[in-house]
Formats: sequence, structure tokens, C-alpha cells
Amino acid sequence: MKLWKKILLGAVVVVLALGGYLFVSVRSLEVEQLTDDLFVLRGLGGNTAVLGTSAGAVVVDTMTLPLQGTRIRELASELTGKDTVLVINTHYHLDHTHGNPAFEPGTRVISTERTLSHLQTLDADFWAGDAARLLPNETFADRQRLQVGGKTLDLYHPGRGHTDGDLVVVFVDEAVLHTGDLLFNGHYPNIDLEAGGTIEAWSATLDKVAAMAFDRVIPGHGPTTDRAGIAQFQDFLRQLWDIGQAAAASGASKEETQASTALTADAGYEPIRFFSVSLGLDRPFVLRRAWEEATGNFTRQN
Ligand SMILES: [Zn+2]
Repeated sequence: MKLWKKILLGAVVVVLALGGYLFVSVRSLEVEQLTDDLFVLRGLGGNTAVLGTSAGAVVVDTMTLPLQGTRIRELASELTGKDTVLVINTHYHLDHTHGNPAFEPGTRVISTERTLSHLQTLDADFWAGDAARLLPNETFADRQRLQVGGKTLDLYHPGRGHTDGDLVVVFVDEAVLHTGDLLFNGHYPNIDLEAGGTIEAWSATLDKVAAMAFDRVIPGHGPTTDRAGIAQFQDFLRQLWDIGQAAAASGASKEETQASTALTADAGYEPIRFFSVSLGLDRPFVLRRAWEEATGNFTRQN
């Protein structure tokens, strides 16, 4: 074989191996069992919850890729013995919604009204065509109590924070809360000012969540926690907002604010990584967002 052919063949093998590795890695989800009927799935994207009920499985959030949605759907059937009858999207971000199209068209899909509006405007390209069949087909503004196959779920939009449309879910019978991205546990949060998110109001929004009845907490990202995890994240948010306000009051530049050493409540926080590549949610990012919100240097998109 000629040398160039060997090199070309080698390159093809490497690309195929990498592609296969990526495919297997993205599909392989970690499963944590919280109660007899409640599971957390972890992979590239936000944490997914799967609840078994006598009527079928309930899935909260569907990660980043339709390929992952397919795996979530398979796991939901394996873990609960039933097909998925309800998908709940905590908010519009792609790492919580882009697995939706893997579910059966006609499946009940619930979000807040704001989230549906954001999906249709801020992420309209993805939700065109066939994917639109798995957009939320049932929405609410503030609160909704659901009875599904003998289980009770409380859905609640407590106010603005990560975006202006996030919902949280309490699995009442399991005493478990899924916060969506209103809580990042041990990670720097995304702060979507353009979609109505706010550092300023976020901590007070979490006070309303903390008033609900639950013991354990599934965050949007990071390991399962409890009320202490929410309180720690509130400390972080309040400190971050103080820094933003101080910067706005003193006329500090964005760069000066990003170099601030006043932020200490992020001790131990890690940027979210994929194959050890940071996705940009890090300390300079949250400090920049604080400066932008406090000084009004951002544009609301919808
Ligand atoms: Zn998010």
C-alpha cells in the first residue's frame, strides 16, 4: 500500500474511532436511584429525573441531543417498566430540551408559558419541522398540581432567576425537589439575562422554592443535595450581586469587575466541562454577568 493511502486509512480509522467513542460516551448516562420510583440520569446536559407511576413514566428534562433523548426514553422504560406519558421541561435551554424530539409525538409535554415562548423565539431554528411536534403542548403561568398514576407533582414558577420562565417540580410522594437550573450545585451557573434572568432577584426566588415541602434536591447541574445546597447557592448569588452593585456604583470597568477578589462564596465551584473542555461557565463569566446586569449593559431578547 502506498504511504498516502496508509495515512488516509489511518485518518479514517481515527475519525471513526473518535466518532464511535463520542457516540458511546454521549449515550452512556449515569443512573442514581433516589427512591423506589425516582431516578436521576446524568450525562452531557442538565440532570434528568425519571418517576415511575402506574400510568407511565414522567421525565423531567431531556438533555442536549435527540440521541440522548432516545437513551432517556429507553432507560425510563427499563427503570419503571412503563413507557413515558409525560415530559416536563424546566426551562428553554437546549441542554434541558433538545432530547424532546426522541419521544413519541403526541406525548404530553408541559412547561411554563414563558418557556414555550422562549423556545419558539430564541431557539426557533431547532424547533422548526418535526421537532415542533415535541414542543410543550400544555403550559401554565404560576402553579400547577398534577396527579399522574397515583403520584402527585407540584409544578411551580417561583419567579425570575436563571431565566424568567423556570419551573421547579416537587415529587410530593418522594419528598424530592427538582430545581431545574434555579440551582447549580458546585458549578458556576449560566445567567440568562437576555431571557429575563437576574442575579438581583434570584435569591428571593429561591426563598419561595425553599418554602415548599421536600427533603432531597436534584439540582439542574451537579450532585443531589438538600436545603443546605440551596442556601449555599443563595449566599453565592447575594455576594455576586453585591459585587455587581458596588462595581456599578464606583464606575468600575467590566475587566476590573472580572478581576474582583471579593467573590469567595464560589469556593469549590467547578466550571461545567465536557471531555475536560470548559463550556465557559466560570468565575470571569459570572462576574461579567454581574457587571452587565448592575450597569444595564445587556439586551433583553424576549
Ligand atoms: Zn439552563
